[in-house]
Amino acid sequence: MPDLLQIGGITDEMRERLEEAFTIHQIDDFDAEAITHVITNGHDGVSPDLMAKLTNLKAISGYGVGYDAVDAEEAARRGILVTHTPNVLNEEVATTAVLLMLACYRELLRDDAHVRSGNWEARGGAPLTRSADNQTIGIVGLGRIGQAIADKLAPWTPTIVYHTRTQKDVAYRYYDNLVEMAQACDTLICITPGGQATEKLINADVIAALGPQGTLINVSRGSVVDEAAMISALQNGTLGWAGLDVFAQEPKVPQALRDLPNTVLLPHVGSATHETRAAMGALTVDNLLQHLKDGTVLTPVPECAHL
Ligand code: NDP
Repeated sequence: MPDLLQIGGITDEMRERLEEAFTIHQIDDFDAEAITHVITNGHDGVSPDLMAKLTNLKAISGYGVGYDAVDAEEAARRGILVTHTPNVLNEEVATTAVLLMLACYRELLRDDAHVRSGNWEARGGAPLTRSADNQTIGIVGLGRIGQAIADKLAPWTPTIVYHTRTQKDVAYRYYDNLVEMAQACDTLICITPGGQATEKLINADVIAALGPQGTLINVSRGSVVDEAAMISALQNGTLGWAGLDVFAQEPKVPQALRDLPNTVLLPHVGSATHETRAAMGALTVDNLLQHLKDGTVLTPVPECAHL
């Protein structure tokens, strides 16, 4: 049976299917020349050093849609097919974005703490919060998930605007200038890919433009936001609130961010439900099995689509 290198965790269902077709090796015990396939996740990816060592590697199946932890252009040059899991997680990640946004607007964590601490009974009701209705919401990255977020927000009757590198064929207002868009928005929701092209796209100027009444939601990658600039803006009140699923140095989250009352923090769980992880896992395995069958894959990343 061909040799598969497993990087990161997989579910029992994935393992059962994979064991029928591959010998699975763990990262601390494998013969580099024997490995023909890799399964990995969006966080660990495949390092350039490892890719260079795996001289017989034919396919990398990514358990996630974001593949910034794999150099897909280099893989394509080496003739290695890289796959990911687009679409099957759109709705779940959109739910996570909406959840973070609503938790910020309605001070969910503060009010939950108010009840648990006994302060409701001891001191009376909680202060008022902001309505999430009728807000101007800027989506940074209107791709598969960005569109799902826009759709999922519809009951809150927002005005949706967006920023991407290329204008899309949609009815929402397009901004090619992110600072201008931030100025016009109550909330920015960031859902671009990670990697160099989006490094600190949400910089100090964008954060300042969003302003003291503004809310920043990040469900993309921690690298997309200038984390230090965001923390100081949240501390000094020049940014109102932040709802974050992703961080610059996961799983490390700066103490300053954890101490702030105007943040809602999640441990990168955008797609992490049983249902969605099952669908992602099935597609991740399907890509590998398809490759064994006839050398093709179901969902290659764009850089490898020509292979
Ligand atoms: P898509 O490729 O469908 O969409 C990406 C969007 O970002 C496009 O609209 C693209 O438009 C835009 N974009 C890309 N680069 C830039 C840039 N430099 N500046 C501005 N906009 C840019 O991807 P998905 O919607 O499927 O996924 C998006 C990302 O979400 C993933 O790559 C991943 O990082 C993240 N994600 C996070 C999860 C979590 O658990 N928190 C789970 C799943 C995904 P254009 O090319 O015109 O610029």
